[in-house]
Amino acid sequence: MTKLIGIYGASGFGREVMPVARAQHPSGTRLVFIDDNAGNGDRQHSGHAILSWDDFTREATGRDAAVAVAIAASQVRERLTERCAAAGISICSISASNIVIGDNIVIGEGAILQPFAMLTADCRIGRGFHANIYSYVAHDCVIGDFVTFAPRVMCNGNVHIEDHAYIGTGAVLRQGTPEKPLVIGAGATVGMGA
Ligand code: UDP
Repeated sequence: MTKLIGIYGASGFGREVMPVARAQHPSGTRLVFIDDNAGNGDRQHSGHAILSWDDFTREATGRDAAVAVAIAASQVRERLTERCAAAGISICSISASNIVIGDNIVIGEGAILQPFAMLTADCRIGRGFHANIYSYVAHDCVIGDFVTFAPRVMCNGNVHIEDHAYIGTGAVLRQGTPEKPLVIGAGATVGMGA
């Protein structure tokens, strides 16, 4: 039976991630959206079915299936990641074909790396990271779980970002040093253009 991949979230970000997932996976893979509000609106988008969680788990039974959570709100992302774990469904990562990943990059499960993202060298990145288009993480950064980069975030070297921080579009994070990294605290929001 063909592999089943669910992109959780059929709104803005999910619709941006779907073509990247489609490019990553061979044509035999069935790619669907999962959305908890599936009953209220469209049943498909760009030819991909929009399923409720229950319908997805029914299809996933006895099948090679995985989910990528494509929802920017990090607390929702963590909750839905746990929902998948509880149902025995694995989490997968999605990566655009033109991303640049340098040496010694360790990255947790469930990352979504959108087109033109770059991770340069010696970085540790936790679970559920989202790097939206044109964002980069430079050398020696440490990034926690469920961190979100909006488009074109510029994260320079020796920056530590704790869990659930949200970095807005075009923000520039000044570099730290090995002795004194720049720290963005847990749950912080860095504004657009900051
Ligand atoms: N959503 C969901 N389950 C949840 C929370 C959100 O399926 O527990 C869906 C919601 O119905 C919506 C999408 O996730 O379709 C989030 O869309 P939104 O526009 O808020 O965010 P974005 O796409 O920018 O991350």
